[in-house]
Amino acid sequence: MSQSFDAIIIGAGQAGPSLAGRLTAADMNVLIIERKLFGGTCVNTGCMPTKTMVASAYAAHLARRGADYGVVIEQPVRVDMKRVRQRADTVSFNARTGVETWLRGMKNCTVVEGHARFVDPHTISVDGATFHAPRIFINVGGRANIPDMPGIQDINYLTNTTMMQLDTLPKHLVVIGGSYIGLEFAQMYRRFGSQVTVVEKGPRLVSREDEDVSEAIKHILEGEGISCRLNSSCIAFKPHAEGVEVHLDCDSDARRVVGSHVLLAIGRRPNTDDLGLDKAGIETDERGYIKVDDRLAAGAEGVWALGDCNGRGAFTHTAYNDFEIVAANLLDGENRKVSDRVPGYALYIDPPLGRAGMSETQARATGRPLLVSKRPMTRVGRAVEKDETQGFMKVVADAATKQILGAAFLGTGGDEAIHGIIDAISAKVDYVTLKWAVPVHPTVSELIPTILGDLSPLEPS
Ligand SMILES: Cc1cc2nc3c(=O)[nH]c(=O)nc-3n(C[C@H](O)[C@H](O)[C@H](O)COP(=O)(O)OP(=O)(O)OC[C@H]3O[C@@H](n4cnc5c(N)ncnc54)[C@H](O)[C@@H]3O)c2cc1C
Repeated sequence: MSQSFDAIIIGAGQAGPSLAGRLTAADMNVLIIERKLFGGTCVNTGCMPTKTMVASAYAAHLARRGADYGVVIEQPVRVDMKRVRQRADTVSFNARTGVETWLRGMKNCTVVEGHARFVDPHTISVDGATFHAPRIFINVGGRANIPDMPGIQDINYLTNTTMMQLDTLPKHLVVIGGSYIGLEFAQMYRRFGSQVTVVEKGPRLVSREDEDVSEAIKHILEGEGISCRLNSSCIAFKPHAEGVEVHLDCDSDARRVVGSHVLLAIGRRPNTDDLGLDKAGIETDERGYIKVDDRLAAGAEGVWALGDCNGRGAFTHTAYNDFEIVAANLLDGENRKVSDRVPGYALYIDPPLGRAGMSETQARATGRPLLVSKRPMTRVGRAVEKDETQGFMKVVADAATKQILGAAFLGTGGDEAIHGIIDAISAKVDYVTLKWAVPVHPTVSELIPTILGDLSPLEPS
């Protein structure tokens, strides 16, 4: 027997539950299906537990630096990993149960736990039961990518998910992948007391960012004693008495590192391979991301894909914005598009990197006449007062239109201050207007008008 609904949502991550809220409020009968943990990646194994742990790592770092501030703390500082773990677990648990309780109490919403698969474009099966709806929303997220690297099957490795079960301190953590997820774990475990090595295939860390950003991040991490092994062209693994031997060039033994634990942080892959998408005529790209149009329609009539699984964003705020776009178009008669979204994100090492819009490299590639302004954090009063002066603030603007194109704020408070730029780009405010804003002193954001005042023509590279 098949049950019918007005809408079916697959996945209770960052878009699904809010969408259920809007659709049920519009008097639709909604089914939401979740196969594992309510709240998805962000709540259970992503943003929330990691940022809670980043906060613990920051506390350890500040405690070690106490004397710099005139606060004398007995050294060496001891980190209680069980308590660190417990904090993260509590934050995740509260958020997860909050989402689940909300959904279960939602009028007109039915919650089913299990793995959903398409039977046809408008029928979904879960453990033998079938459900039908004219509208289906896919919000299945992603998981850690585990490429078939030589020796990977012979060792025990960790991912962002299994890291969340660790409540002891690795003696030597080898992080494979020098990008966002890898670097956050690298710095936090170094601060907890592990020896840490980052192994990166490319010639620099966070290769999507400008070279000066990558270089400054490497300097910050190395300054804390993290070893960065770049240009690791071919990474291979072997079991070792102390844990795992990681070879950095497959054809030579010269470059290798032995660690007690290995964390794989080499990208994500979408949870689309076990959804029966072929039964619904829904196409994916070569990496498995569901192909969507600018309004997130997934090719089959009445089917949309939201969040990480559509490859149009890889963040909680982009997944949530997907919900906003779909809901506004369906329920409010609007015409919202993904291409209107201004890219913004942060890398939560300390100090954090806040990013908005284009990088300088991307702006250069457009061939427009550019203006750039860069200020070291040593010249930001708030950073000096906090004695956290690593990094810089950089803004790129279009010399002809005066529009701000992008910014990178690598420095204390950079993840918050960047919103001044994200908001200005979103509102299409030119830099000449923004220059006249009167910011609060002393903040990192107060330097934005100053930086805009210092914009000058970019030297050709
Ligand atoms: C370590 C780490 C740190 C991160 N930190 C940040 C950060 O600081 N800021 C940020 O913005 N983003 C961060 N992210 C990314 C963020 O977690 C994701 O972008 C976000 O969770 C995506 O939301 P989503 O709704 O698309 O998918 P998800 O949150 O992954 O939710 C998808 C849900 O669908 C369920 N599901 C999958 N397949 C099925 C099926 N067939 N049937 C039923 N249910 C199914 C899953 O169980 C899951 O609950 C981080 C990610 C990681 C891994």
